[in-house]
Amino acid sequence: MILCPGCSAELTPEPQGGLICGRCAAPVVIRDGVIMFHPEVSGSHGGMNPGIYEELARVEEKHFWMRARAEYITSIFEELVAKKAKIIEIGSSTGNIARVLAKSGYSDVAAGDVHASALAFAGAYGIKNLYQFDMMRSPFREHFEAVGMFDVFEHLDDEAGAVENILRMLKPGGLVLATVPAHMWLWNREDAVASHRRRYTVSRFRSIFEKAGLSVLKARYFFASIVPLLLLRSLSHRDRGEVLAEDFMNRFKVNTVINLLLGKLLDAESRFFSKVNFCCGGSVLLVARKNT
Ligand SMILES: [Zn+2]
Repeated sequence: MILCPGCSAELTPEPQGGLICGRCAAPVVIRDGVIMFHPEVSGSHGGMNPGIYEELARVEEKHFWMRARAEYITSIFEELVAKKAKIIEIGSSTGNIARVLAKSGYSDVAAGDVHASALAFAGAYGIKNLYQFDMMRSPFREHFEAVGMFDVFEHLDDEAGAVENILRMLKPGGLVLATVPAHMWLWNREDAVASHRRRYTVSRFRSIFEKAGLSVLKARYFFASIVPLLLLRSLSHRDRGEVLAEDFMNRFKVNTVINLLLGKLLDAESRFFSKVNFCCGGSVLLVARKNT
Protein backbone atom coordinates (compact mmCIF):
# COMPACT_ATOMS: atom_id res chain seq x y z
CA MET A 1 0.00 0.00 0.00
CA ILE A 2 1.00 3.61 -0.57
CA LEU A 3 0.29 6.31 2.00
CA CYS A 4 -0.73 9.95 1.49
CA PRO A 5 2.24 12.24 2.17
CA GLY A 6 -0.20 14.74 3.71
CA CYS A 7 -2.31 12.65 6.11
CA SER A 8 -0.90 9.08 5.92
CA ALA A 9 -4.23 7.56 4.81
CA GLU A 10 -4.00 4.91 2.12
CA LEU A 11 -3.87 6.30 -1.41
CA THR A 12 -6.09 4.82 -4.08
CA PRO A 13 -5.24 4.58 -7.77
CA GLU A 14 -7.23 6.79 -10.11
CA PRO A 15 -8.52 5.48 -13.43
CA GLN A 16 -6.25 7.91 -15.35
CA GLY A 17 -3.23 6.42 -13.61
CA GLY A 18 -2.67 8.86 -10.74
CA LEU A 19 -3.09 8.41 -7.00
CA ILE A 20 -5.59 10.19 -4.77
CA CYS A 21 -6.11 10.33 -1.01
CA GLY A 22 -9.50 9.08 0.21
CA ARG A 23 -9.29 11.12 3.42
CA CYS A 24 -7.92 14.56 2.54
CA ALA A 25 -8.81 14.20 -1.17
CA ALA A 26 -5.37 15.52 -2.15
CA PRO A 27 -4.14 14.13 -5.45
CA VAL A 28 -0.46 13.23 -5.58
CA VAL A 29 1.29 15.43 -8.13
CA ILE A 30 2.51 13.73 -11.30
CA ARG A 31 5.13 15.65 -13.25
CA ASP A 32 6.43 14.28 -16.55
CA GLY A 33 5.38 10.77 -15.58
CA VAL A 34 7.04 10.95 -12.14
CA ILE A 35 4.79 10.55 -9.07
CA MET A 36 6.02 13.29 -6.73
CA PHE A 37 5.59 12.45 -3.03
CA HIS A 38 7.98 15.04 -1.64
CA PRO A 39 8.39 17.64 -4.42
CA GLU A 40 9.68 20.20 -1.92
CA VAL A 41 13.02 18.32 -1.69
CA SER A 42 13.32 17.28 -5.35
CA GLY A 43 15.62 20.09 -6.41
CA SER A 44 17.90 20.19 -3.34
CA HIS A 45 20.99 18.38 -4.48
CA GLY A 46 23.22 18.93 -1.45
CA GLY A 47 26.71 18.18 -2.67
CA MET A 48 25.44 16.51 -5.84
CA ASN A 49 25.74 18.28 -9.16
CA PRO A 50 22.50 17.66 -11.13
CA GLY A 51 24.55 17.65 -14.37
CA ILE A 52 25.91 14.31 -13.18
CA TYR A 53 22.83 12.44 -14.49
CA GLU A 54 23.47 13.52 -18.06
CA GLU A 55 27.07 12.39 -17.73
CA LEU A 56 26.00 9.08 -16.16
CA ALA A 57 23.43 8.39 -18.87
CA ARG A 58 26.15 8.99 -21.46
CA VAL A 59 28.66 6.53 -19.97
CA GLU A 60 26.80 3.92 -17.92
CA GLU A 61 26.41 1.41 -20.74
CA LYS A 62 30.08 1.65 -21.67
CA HIS A 63 32.02 2.15 -18.44
CA PHE A 64 33.59 -1.18 -17.39
CA TRP A 65 32.74 -0.84 -13.70
CA MET A 66 29.14 0.22 -14.27
CA ARG A 67 28.54 -2.53 -16.80
CA ALA A 68 30.11 -5.24 -14.67
CA ARG A 69 28.31 -4.04 -11.55
CA ALA A 70 24.92 -4.10 -13.34
CA GLU A 71 25.63 -7.65 -14.56
CA TYR A 72 26.75 -8.81 -11.13
CA ILE A 73 23.64 -7.37 -9.46
CA THR A 74 21.41 -8.95 -12.12
CA SER A 75 22.99 -12.35 -11.48
CA ILE A 76 22.21 -12.03 -7.75
CA PHE A 77 18.60 -11.09 -8.57
CA GLU A 78 18.29 -14.07 -10.91
CA GLU A 79 19.46 -16.35 -8.12
CA LEU A 80 17.04 -15.02 -5.48
CA VAL A 81 14.18 -12.94 -6.90
CA ALA A 82 11.31 -14.16 -9.10
CA LYS A 83 10.88 -12.45 -12.48
CA LYS A 84 7.35 -11.29 -11.55
CA ALA A 85 8.36 -9.81 -8.18
CA LYS A 86 7.48 -6.19 -7.42
CA ILE A 87 10.85 -4.47 -7.24
CA ILE A 88 12.07 -0.94 -6.57
CA GLU A 89 15.53 0.48 -7.03
CA ILE A 90 15.91 3.34 -4.50
CA GLY A 91 18.44 6.09 -5.04
CA SER A 92 18.21 4.87 -8.59
CA SER A 93 19.69 8.00 -10.12
CA THR A 94 19.16 7.45 -13.87
CA GLY A 95 17.67 3.99 -13.20
CA ASN A 96 20.38 2.05 -14.97
CA ILE A 97 20.13 -1.05 -12.76
CA ALA A 98 16.33 -0.96 -13.04
CA ARG A 99 16.75 -0.84 -16.82
CA VAL A 100 19.14 -3.80 -16.88
CA LEU A 101 16.79 -5.81 -14.62
CA ALA A 102 13.82 -5.02 -16.86
CA LYS A 103 15.87 -6.01 -19.90
CA SER A 104 16.65 -9.38 -18.32
CA GLY A 105 12.96 -10.17 -17.84
CA TYR A 106 11.88 -8.53 -14.58
CA SER A 107 8.39 -7.29 -15.35
CA ASP A 108 7.58 -5.00 -12.38
CA VAL A 109 10.57 -2.78 -11.70
CA ALA A 110 10.16 0.75 -10.30
CA ALA A 111 12.76 3.47 -9.90
CA GLY A 112 12.76 5.78 -6.87
CA ASP A 113 14.91 8.81 -6.22
CA VAL A 114 14.65 12.07 -4.35
CA HIS A 115 15.54 13.93 -7.55
CA ALA A 116 12.88 14.00 -10.27
CA SER A 117 15.51 15.15 -12.79
CA ALA A 118 17.26 11.78 -12.38
CA LEU A 119 14.01 9.87 -12.85
CA ALA A 120 13.43 11.61 -16.18
CA PHE A 121 16.26 9.44 -17.53
CA ALA A 122 14.72 6.30 -15.99
CA GLY A 123 11.48 7.22 -17.78
CA ALA A 124 13.35 7.54 -21.06
CA TYR A 125 14.85 4.08 -20.40
CA GLY A 126 11.31 2.68 -20.36
CA ILE A 127 10.82 2.28 -16.59
CA LYS A 128 7.10 2.87 -16.01
CA ASN A 129 6.77 3.36 -12.27
CA LEU A 130 8.79 6.41 -11.29
CA TYR A 131 8.58 7.60 -7.68
CA GLN A 132 10.12 10.80 -6.38
CA PHE A 133 10.34 10.56 -2.59
CA ASP A 134 12.55 11.10 0.43
CA MET A 135 13.45 7.58 1.53
CA MET A 136 13.58 8.64 5.18
CA ARG A 137 9.79 9.26 4.92
CA SER A 138 8.90 6.51 2.47
CA PRO A 139 5.17 6.42 1.60
CA PHE A 140 5.27 2.66 0.82
CA ARG A 141 4.05 0.02 3.29
CA GLU A 142 4.62 -3.70 2.64
CA HIS A 143 4.52 -2.87 -1.04
CA PHE A 144 7.58 -4.56 -2.59
CA GLU A 145 9.05 -8.05 -2.75
CA ALA A 146 12.54 -6.65 -3.30
CA VAL A 147 14.23 -3.32 -2.63
CA GLY A 148 17.56 -2.53 -4.27
CA MET A 149 19.95 0.17 -3.01
CA PHE A 150 23.10 0.19 -5.08
CA ASP A 151 25.88 2.47 -3.87
CA VAL A 152 23.51 4.65 -1.86
CA PHE A 153 24.26 3.92 1.82
CA GLU A 154 27.70 5.53 1.63
CA HIS A 155 25.92 8.84 0.95
CA LEU A 156 23.61 8.65 4.00
CA ASP A 157 24.05 10.04 7.50
CA ASP A 158 21.25 7.94 9.00
CA GLU A 159 21.90 4.35 7.90
CA ALA A 160 19.61 2.87 10.58
CA GLY A 161 16.75 5.17 9.53
CA ALA A 162 17.20 4.02 5.94
CA VAL A 163 17.00 0.35 6.91
CA GLU A 164 13.89 1.02 9.02
CA ASN A 165 12.22 2.57 5.97
CA ILE A 166 13.25 -0.33 3.74
CA LEU A 167 11.75 -2.74 6.28
CA ARG A 168 8.42 -0.90 6.16
CA MET A 169 8.42 -0.95 2.37
CA LEU A 170 9.03 -4.70 2.12
CA LYS A 171 6.37 -7.36 2.27
CA PRO A 172 7.09 -10.05 4.89
CA GLY A 173 9.76 -12.35 3.49
CA GLY A 174 10.89 -9.62 1.07
CA LEU A 175 14.53 -9.02 0.25
CA VAL A 176 16.81 -6.02 0.34
CA LEU A 177 19.78 -6.18 -2.02
CA ALA A 178 22.48 -3.56 -1.54
CA THR A 179 26.01 -2.68 -2.59
CA VAL A 180 28.48 -0.18 -1.09
CA PRO A 181 32.13 0.74 -1.71
CA ALA A 182 34.56 -1.33 0.39
CA HIS A 183 37.40 -0.50 2.82
CA MET A 184 38.39 2.87 4.22
CA TRP A 185 41.95 2.06 3.08
CA LEU A 186 40.65 2.44 -0.48
CA TRP A 187 39.31 5.93 0.30
CA ASN A 188 40.45 8.35 -2.40
CA ARG A 189 39.64 11.69 -3.93
CA GLU A 190 36.78 10.21 -5.94
CA ASP A 191 34.96 9.30 -2.74
CA ALA A 192 35.16 12.96 -1.77
CA VAL A 193 34.08 14.07 -5.27
CA ALA A 194 31.05 11.77 -5.01
CA SER A 195 30.19 13.14 -1.52
CA HIS A 196 30.65 9.77 0.16
CA ARG A 197 30.56 9.68 3.96
CA ARG A 198 32.44 6.38 4.31
CA ARG A 199 33.47 3.04 2.77
CA TYR A 200 32.50 -0.26 4.42
CA THR A 201 33.75 -3.58 5.69
CA VAL A 202 31.42 -6.54 5.26
CA SER A 203 30.93 -6.81 9.04
CA ARG A 204 30.12 -3.11 9.47
CA PHE A 205 27.55 -3.20 6.64
CA ARG A 206 26.05 -6.46 7.84
CA SER A 207 25.57 -5.20 11.40
CA ILE A 208 23.31 -2.32 10.26
CA PHE A 209 20.82 -4.85 8.89
CA GLU A 210 21.15 -7.36 11.73
CA LYS A 211 20.49 -4.63 14.30
CA ALA A 212 17.22 -3.86 12.49
CA GLY A 213 16.18 -7.52 12.78
CA LEU A 214 16.73 -8.64 9.19
CA SER A 215 18.26 -12.03 8.36
CA VAL A 216 21.41 -11.58 6.31
CA LEU A 217 21.55 -14.16 3.50
CA LYS A 218 24.67 -12.92 1.73
CA ALA A 219 27.36 -10.47 2.79
CA ARG A 220 30.60 -10.51 0.84
CA TYR A 221 33.20 -8.56 -1.08
CA PHE A 222 33.22 -8.51 -4.86
CA PHE A 223 35.38 -6.97 -7.59
CA ALA A 224 38.43 -8.31 -5.73
CA SER A 225 40.45 -8.48 -8.95
CA ILE A 226 40.66 -4.69 -9.22
CA VAL A 227 41.74 -4.11 -5.60
CA PRO A 228 45.42 -3.61 -6.56
CA LEU A 229 44.33 -0.94 -9.04
CA LEU A 230 41.99 0.67 -6.53
CA LEU A 231 44.83 0.72 -4.01
CA LEU A 232 47.06 2.44 -6.56
CA ARG A 233 44.30 4.97 -7.12
CA SER A 234 43.92 5.67 -3.42
CA LEU A 235 47.68 6.30 -3.24
CA SER A 236 47.89 8.42 -6.38
CA HIS A 237 44.57 10.23 -5.93
CA ARG A 238 44.64 11.04 -2.25
CA ASP A 239 41.76 12.97 -0.81
CA ARG A 240 43.36 16.25 0.22
CA GLY A 241 40.11 17.71 1.47
CA GLU A 242 39.35 19.82 -1.59
CA VAL A 243 37.30 18.89 -4.62
CA LEU A 244 38.34 20.49 -7.88
CA ALA A 245 35.94 21.05 -10.77
CA GLU A 246 38.23 19.00 -13.02
CA ASP A 247 37.97 16.01 -10.64
CA PHE A 248 34.24 16.20 -11.10
CA MET A 249 34.45 16.29 -14.87
CA ASN A 250 37.06 13.53 -15.07
CA ARG A 251 35.47 10.98 -12.81
CA PHE A 252 34.01 8.73 -15.51
CA LYS A 253 36.85 9.06 -18.01
CA VAL A 254 38.71 5.84 -18.75
CA ASN A 255 41.05 5.08 -21.64
CA THR A 256 39.21 2.89 -24.19
CA VAL A 257 41.73 0.03 -24.11
CA ILE A 258 41.97 0.01 -20.32
CA ASN A 259 38.18 0.12 -20.13
CA LEU A 260 38.00 -2.97 -22.35
CA LEU A 261 40.68 -4.87 -20.40
CA LEU A 262 39.23 -4.10 -16.99
CA GLY A 263 35.80 -5.09 -18.28
CA LYS A 264 37.21 -8.49 -19.30
CA LEU A 265 38.90 -8.85 -15.91
CA LEU A 266 35.66 -8.22 -13.98
CA ASP A 267 33.72 -10.50 -16.37
CA ALA A 268 36.21 -13.28 -15.65
CA GLU A 269 35.91 -12.72 -11.91
CA SER A 270 32.11 -12.88 -12.09
CA ARG A 271 32.20 -15.97 -14.27
CA PHE A 272 34.77 -18.07 -12.41
CA PHE A 273 34.83 -16.74 -8.84
CA SER A 274 31.23 -15.72 -8.16
CA LYS A 275 30.94 -18.06 -5.15
CA VAL A 276 34.30 -17.19 -3.59
CA ASN A 277 34.37 -15.32 -0.30
CA PHE A 278 37.14 -12.83 -0.96
CA CYS A 279 38.97 -11.27 1.98
CA CYS A 280 38.67 -7.85 0.34
CA GLY A 281 37.16 -6.26 -2.73
CA GLY A 282 36.22 -3.02 -4.38
CA SER A 283 32.64 -3.30 -3.15
CA VAL A 284 30.43 -5.09 -0.63
CA LEU A 285 27.28 -7.00 -1.59
CA LEU A 286 24.57 -7.68 0.96
CA VAL A 287 21.24 -9.50 0.69
CA ALA A 288 18.94 -9.58 3.72
CA ARG A 289 15.42 -10.87 4.32
CA LYS A 290 12.56 -9.32 6.25
CA ASN A 291 11.27 -12.00 8.59
CA THR A 292 7.72 -13.20 8.18
ZN1 LIG B 1 -4.38 12.50 2.65
